[in-house]
Amino acid sequence: NRQLVLAERPKGAPTKDTLRLIECEVPSAGGNQMLLRTEFLSLDPYMRGRMSDAPSYAAPVPIGGVMQGGTVAQVVTSNVDGFTPGDYVLSFNGWQDYAVSDGVGVTNLGKAPAHPSWALGIMGMPGFTAWAGLTQIGAPKPGETIAVAAATGPVGATVGQIGKILGCRVIGIAGGPDKCAYAVNELGFDACIDHKADDFAEQLAKASPDGIDVYFENVGGKVLDGVVSLLNPNARVPVCGLISQYNATTLPDGPDRMNWLMGQILRKKLKVQGFIIFDDFGHLYGDFAKEMGPWVESGKIKYREEIIDGLENALEAFIGLLNGENFGKRVIRVGHN
Ligand code: NDP
Repeated sequence: NRQLVLAERPKGAPTKDTLRLIECEVPSAGGNQMLLRTEFLSLDPYMRGRMSDAPSYAAPVPIGGVMQGGTVAQVVTSNVDGFTPGDYVLSFNGWQDYAVSDGVGVTNLGKAPAHPSWALGIMGMPGFTAWAGLTQIGAPKPGETIAVAAATGPVGATVGQIGKILGCRVIGIAGGPDKCAYAVNELGFDACIDHKADDFAEQLAKASPDGIDVYFENVGGKVLDGVVSLLNPNARVPVCGLISQYNATTLPDGPDRMNWLMGQILRKKLKVQGFIIFDDFGHLYGDFAKEMGPWVESGKIKYREEIIDGLENALEAFIGLLNGENFGKRVIRVGHN
């Protein structure tokens, strides 16, 4: 049983020394337990937070502890009602080959789900985050303009596509021309601006002739700077993530603009609301699944996944995710010896 455990807390970006690969015995399931074999491990930006012991909404992974993570696994042996060997399950095994579970918080996906790994993306936590943050906080009306960054990732791509279904103008922000072309040509966004361009702020302003009514905040940093001045009165800002800051060790250079930002919030009567998906909207999961299932099946919402083979490659793939090297939802196909 291979496990990736937290070796040290990163200062700045995680490195190859942040996690250590260890081998241990495959655990065995007790009386009311089942043994799960991890097939797919989800890589998600929040994992950077779990590596840190800074105050957060969730406890950090202890030094020496197995890195946490959402997984799709197969049941190997089971003493839990409702689960039999061969079932695919959505579970929280973490970064390891095998885990024992009592079934609490584990969802049975059946013996032959069409796309088992999608439960980690469009049909799971990231898709739900996009749907709930946009509809419950962003509350866009037809004809309004939505802006969203990390526009080709599982959250941003879904936000933008739902925005189009709801009759809005959607402006994506992504890293590089290929991602931007994909957002417009494949996902149907009205425009997509490359945040690496020198004239990013000017391009964004040009693409937003009627201002921005909903800014779905995924990244912070330069993108946030460019968006705030374009927000319309009564705009809504679901604060979902700030990935540009996850590896930061100091506050940004330059003048403190906190009071300028509060002035914008005041004068434009902005609604800025953070959320943690399952804490705030867990009760709506069924509604999400009912709506998203048909959208995905009919092709109304597209989903791009990037599968990387081998648990041993997970750390490097995660470091790349924080740098924008992923193009679509990054998932590890764990692979077994
Ligand atoms: P993605 O797969 O989209 O990956 C992150 C992307 O962020 C990168 O691919 C990159 O895309 C972009 N990025 C990285 N650094 C920067 C930067 N400096 N400036 C601009 N963009 C950058 O991630 P997810 O879709 O899984 O998650 C998106 C956001 O949602 C994250 O902030 C995450 O923490 C948050 N989240 C919050 C939840 C909640 O409950 N609040 C739940 C789930 C996710 P590009 O190359 O296009 O710039």
